[in-house]
Amino acid sequence: MTASPPITPEAMPIPRKAPAPARRNLVGLTRPQLRAALIEAGTPEKQAKMRETQVWQWLYQKGVRDFDQMTNLAKDYRARLKEHFTIEVPEVVARTVSADGTRKYLVRIAGGHEVEVVYIPEDGRGTLCISSQVGCTLTCTFCHTGTQRLVRNLTAGEIVGQIMLARDDLGEWPEPGRAPKDETRLISNVVLMGMGEPLYNFDAVRDAMLITMDGEGISLSRRRITLSTSGVVPEIPRTGAEIGCMLAISLHATTDELRNQLVPINRKYPLAQLLEALRAYPKLSNSERITFEYVMLKGVNDSDEDARRLVKLIAGIPAKINLIPFNEWPGVPYERSDWDRIEAFADIVHKAGYASPIRTPRGEDIMAACGQLKSATERARKNRFEIAAEAGLPQPERIVRRPNAPDVH
Ligand code: SAH
Ligand code: SF4
Repeated sequence: MTASPPITPEAMPIPRKAPAPARRNLVGLTRPQLRAALIEAGTPEKQAKMRETQVWQWLYQKGVRDFDQMTNLAKDYRARLKEHFTIEVPEVVARTVSADGTRKYLVRIAGGHEVEVVYIPEDGRGTLCISSQVGCTLTCTFCHTGTQRLVRNLTAGEIVGQIMLARDDLGEWPEPGRAPKDETRLISNVVLMGMGEPLYNFDAVRDAMLITMDGEGISLSRRRITLSTSGVVPEIPRTGAEIGCMLAISLHATTDELRNQLVPINRKYPLAQLLEALRAYPKLSNSERITFEYVMLKGVNDSDEDARRLVKLIAGIPAKINLIPFNEWPGVPYERSDWDRIEAFADIVHKAGYASPIRTPRGEDIMAACGQLKSATERARKNRFEIAAEAGLPQPERIVRRPNAPDVH
């Protein structure tokens, strides 16, 4: 046995400081979670309800990002909060403003991922289109987001944080005592129509929307929030029961055969199942209608016969049909229907008694239009041959460049 070497000062184990516990972000906690977190940080249980309300109002009613601004809290309590918590919303790394006033925010979330948020102003009000996932695991063949491989669910804080950062940019946090009324809000509506399938991230989306609707916070009515889904049927009843917001369905086809190709989740949850779930959606009425989104693809789903089948399919459901002129993106195998075709289609739907607005493409010049969103930092993307293979479509023709031919996008 050899004697162990003497311990020299250099070799002495350095007592390691316990790492500072990671501070928790308060943004995105539901009210019960916030209260529990405050208690865990030493707030006496008796005061917890009051503290929860105070902090909540600072965060969501006034938009404060610094504990020192929470002036109705004692200084030492603010210090305690600072020790345990942060107030963070995703960081805007780029902001582009379209010629038509549409604003697109490129937003960075933890892990260096990026998502896009789009604000569409209209007559002094406006709609904010937010994302629920980075990319999307579904592969609708006409959608740019669906070609992005990288996918992660956003947290509730990252979802409600998108609304908060847009309010920052628009200067919409109210002056004390002057909460915006729904009619005068710059962000009068929120739509979950950005990147991702919200019903594949149900819990975070629900929590974020409950925070958004809370009357002591952002206070946006559930009727001004629309969640768009490609048709994740098992989550539709929960959406009605636990969120209660308006529902939009990405329909896009009126037969299972075509919908299987365009919206592949249809193979799992075919049209009959989808429509049954919609008929059971709570509170459906003339003032609370389902929105059906229908992207107009030339020669694919835009015939008079398609329009007639559509109205038969949804018969009895209080509905509005949003016709979306297809937005092209590089490499996509579809084209936008001609304008007179879209109008003829709209006319048939309208005559059957349904509102059939044609969605004016907004922010196209900045790639902010529906289905054009996709992170610039994606690491790999599927090409149109892979998309076609996954959807069971015939392989697209390979484009052979002739000399002097114009660039093909
Ligand atoms: N994943 C959800 C939420 C995205 S909403 C869903 O699919 O419903 C975005 C809407 O834009 C959907 O109706 C989608 O089908 C539609 N869309 C996707 N790509 C499009 C494109 N290139 N042009 C027009 N609309 C598109
Ligand atoms: Fe995903 Fe919606 Fe795009 Fe389909 S349309 S790939 S569900 S984001």
